[in-house]
Amino acid sequence: SAYVSMQGVGHRYDPRPGAPMAVQDIDLDIHRHEFVAVVGPSGCGKSTLLRMVSGLLIPSHGEVSVFNRRVTEPRDDVGIVFQKANLLPWLTVRKNVLFPLKHKYGHYTQEDEKRTDELLKMAGLTQFADKMPDELSGGMQQRVGIVRALLLNPDILLMDEPFSALDALTREQIGFDLLKIWEENPKTVLFITHSISEAVLLSDRILVMSKRPGTVLDLIEVDLPRP
Ligand code: ADP
Ligand code: ADP
Repeated sequence: SAYVSMQGVGHRYDPRPGAPMAVQDIDLDIHRHEFVAVVGPSGCGKSTLLRMVSGLLIPSHGEVSVFNRRVTEPRDDVGIVFQKANLLPWLTVRKNVLFPLKHKYGHYTQEDEKRTDELLKMAGLTQFADKMPDELSGGMQQRVGIVRALLLNPDILLMDEPFSALDALTREQIGFDLLKIWEENPKTVLFITHSISEAVLLSDRILVMSKRPGTVLDLIEVDLPRP
């Protein structure tokens, strides 16, 4: 059965009658550990869709549920990766990755540190673990942001154009590394991208949204063999 389910979902940021809907008539089922890429023109509601899954935004119409429970508040089992990693400049890479755990529980364990080093290794970051963020390229910083989100072991990972600031070659390399990481850390992923090739490389399905009136146009199965 569906893991994330949206039924008749629509949202209007402006409550005044007659104000436009940001998204509408969305019916969508996502299975556990499915990787769904979300594409569509700027302003079509991709970020709005992600915010509704995270519970940061409760839609004005319809219902979003995760694991058969209606989403009514921000979920703490959702990891989010944005366009910029926003690493803390005064902490090393390893400490940045551990920071949310420390913030959430007040401390972290040796086991957490071990897992951090494993994830850093998978992301090709071992030799940067003790460096400061400003010693890393943008691509490396984004990898750190993804590792940081994965360390909390979220069930759902939401990524809002995580690679849009990177050059094509770096994006491709990160894409291949991510595939390896997903193999060992399966997650339910919603991934906003402007790059069709990235969507095809990484995802199981591609959700195509239209600008007007902010609806789902298509949900395409990606059936290409992965490298
Ligand atoms: P993107 O197109 O990359 O999703 P935008 O530049 O449209 O980003 O939006 C950036 C931020 O501004 C988002 O947090 C979004 O919620 C907010 N925003 C976008 N449109 C409006 C609006 N009409 N009124 C208020 N906030 C908005
Ligand atoms: P996308 O991520 O596809 O660029 P968004 O979800 O950011 O699209 O925006 C969808 C629509 O909702 C746009 O018309 C945008 O201006 C509007 N919008 C987004 N965030 C806000 C906000 N916080 N307040 C008002 N309008 C918003």
